[in-house]
Amino acid sequence: MTTDYAVQGPVAVLTLNNPPVNGMGLATRVALTDGLARALADETVKAIVITGAGKAFSGGADITEFGSPKAFAEPNLLSVILAIEASTKPVIAAVHTVCMGGGLELALGCNYRIAAPGCNVALPEVKLGLVPGAGGTQRLPRALGVEPALNLIVSGEQVKSELLAMLPGQQLFQKIAASPETLMAEALVFAAEVADVRPLPQVRKLPSRHPQGDAYFQFARNMVKGMAKNFPAPVKCVDMVEASTKNKFDDGMALERETFLNLMWTPEHRALRHLFLAERAASKVPDVPVDTPLRDIKSVAIIGAGTMGGGIAMNFLNAGVPVKMLEMKQEALDRGLATIRKNYEAQVAKKKLKQDKYEQRMALLSTTLSYDDLTDADLVIEAVFEDIGVKEAVFKELDRVVKPGAILASNTSTLDLNKIASFTQRPQDVVGLHFFSPANVMKLLEVVRGEKTAKDVLATVMSLAKKIKKTAVVSGVCDGFIGNRMIEQYGRQGGFLLDEGCTPAQVDKAMEKFGMAMGPFRMSDLAGNDIGWAIRKRRYTEQPDMKYSKTADLLCEKGRFGQKTGAGWYDYVPGKRDAIPNAEVVKMIEDHRAALGITPRKISDEEIVQRLVFSLVNEAAHILEEGIANKASDIDVVYIFGYGFPVYRGGPMNYANEVGLFNVVQAMKRFAQNPLDDAKFWQPAPLLVKLVAESGNL
Ligand code: NAD
Repeated sequence: MTTDYAVQGPVAVLTLNNPPVNGMGLATRVALTDGLARALADETVKAIVITGAGKAFSGGADITEFGSPKAFAEPNLLSVILAIEASTKPVIAAVHTVCMGGGLELALGCNYRIAAPGCNVALPEVKLGLVPGAGGTQRLPRALGVEPALNLIVSGEQVKSELLAMLPGQQLFQKIAASPETLMAEALVFAAEVADVRPLPQVRKLPSRHPQGDAYFQFARNMVKGMAKNFPAPVKCVDMVEASTKNKFDDGMALERETFLNLMWTPEHRALRHLFLAERAASKVPDVPVDTPLRDIKSVAIIGAGTMGGGIAMNFLNAGVPVKMLEMKQEALDRGLATIRKNYEAQVAKKKLKQDKYEQRMALLSTTLSYDDLTDADLVIEAVFEDIGVKEAVFKELDRVVKPGAILASNTSTLDLNKIASFTQRPQDVVGLHFFSPANVMKLLEVVRGEKTAKDVLATVMSLAKKIKKTAVVSGVCDGFIGNRMIEQYGRQGGFLLDEGCTPAQVDKAMEKFGMAMGPFRMSDLAGNDIGWAIRKRRYTEQPDMKYSKTADLLCEKGRFGQKTGAGWYDYVPGKRDAIPNAEVVKMIEDHRAALGITPRKISDEEIVQRLVFSLVNEAAHILEEGIANKASDIDVVYIFGYGFPVYRGGPMNYANEVGLFNVVQAMKRFAQNPLDDAKFWQPAPLLVKLVAESGNL
């Protein structure tokens, strides 16, 4: 049963029991209304308490039902709440731990609410591109006051029950229990006390008022508009709360319903819902059972204290895991340590980190020049130079000293992980942990699964990723793994666009308008143009038939490596990140174009966006076919968390589905006709062709 029924003296207790968070799925809604009817029919019952089993009152709607008929099947949440409001016996919500979304709306429909201290209260619907849809926008302002209610609704953030209970005049909670443990006992006493009180109080009957309503809502709307440019839901939240102050309750409810249903049809909601599920799905690896035993990781060693090693170390220090860093020379250790200190001190200066926390973190860090000090490490992460000879020496040394069962990880971005594993006698313990730069900031972690990587190693690092607050995605072994393999095609298209008539600024502007955090040329200036140059040089010998624009090579020959040299596709002023267009670079592009005999043409923003984004899509489809990525949604997670793809578009795969795969494939066929582009690349991946034939989605 998803709702348990029990009678204690004069009180019926309905306990939502749908682990893990008592989501309000259809079965739970049915069981709850059945329980309510049973309590009303029982003459010995004088009051009804609704609570939640386990670790939540209720986390709200069952998101897996969204977009399916089940979400609307009766009794829907509105009907459940109406049934509670129609009860002739008082209904008390006893909320604890988590009371969110539909869970909070359910509680607001009850006659009274008693909360355990520490209960997280929120209406997080806006984070899924929606407004609350079961009365939250109409009842919360009445129960809590307009301003605090709007803050909760428009931010979707959690606030502790005891803080809300301190707001003057609030009627959200009639009582805060002494402790979570005493909540039920106190709720039963409370229920007995109010059993005979009539009329039954209802939140819908309370007023929703603001003394300077018009000015306040105008101000709120302007603020929200500025902050939530590409998302329609936040402004609608303001509209709904305003409606609670101007309309009759039932009219406000009708408007909320209409708005909720309209938002459900927006691409922004679909993108956010997709990402919500995609992020959770990414941590599940199809052939690694969820109950795979994990290896214990109590200490970490990091080889190489450079750019990546230092950033990686900070992740573990932040999570309270001791770290030992190894370098070849004391100076390198000192430099690495100084950078970590500088980063932490900047956080302290900005008041983002307390001095004592900083000291605690630094106390977990030790350094060494000797491999013999690493015998006890549970996990070793190598972040030395990107050179297979250097990696070989490091992994042979690790194999010699590190205890059996320890996990050996490499942060390589381009080298063959299977080869690295073969340098050891324990390839099953070797895995790739591809952090992104700056490693202490970027959320994405590509976990690279070698041919021989053991399942428990994979399960352990996926769980560890959560501990260090990374979003991990599993990738198979290939050149560039998921993210960089795709970005290479994107970069190649960027080059062709310059040759055909664009400027870097035009391409960047089009992509930024599409929503990318940064256009491709600004991004390359940030990452370092020399990195792409090194990859291309390798390609010229290994894959001589691959077509490239040579413009980026010309730029690198001038030493314009990007922000780090103060000059790249753009100029940079020291200490600032603003990209200033450079006339010489534009002239260089024009001269090169002329030398190739190309007459420039005007290229639309639409073509720029399609060529760049669909190049990601085609490469991703190959990646899926080859089994490098387990599922399309993993690729979206990589691009959202690692490459600044716009959240409201849900990642390149979700975007392609939104555009329609038929249209995507048609566009690819068109691009293949362009003699200045790469016809071979634009052959649609067989997976795309198959999906179009089946009317399927990625
Ligand atoms: P880096 O040059 O900043 O740092 C490498 C460090 O390793 C240096 O401090 C060097 O002294 C040390 N080192 C070299 N050989 C060593 C050895 N045998 N034993 C101990 N220490 C040794 O390089 P980085 O940018 O930090 O890159 C490190 C690794 O991370 C590379 O494999 C790189 O491909 C990968 N990576 C880099 C980025 C990035 O954006 N920089 C992103 C992802 C992955």
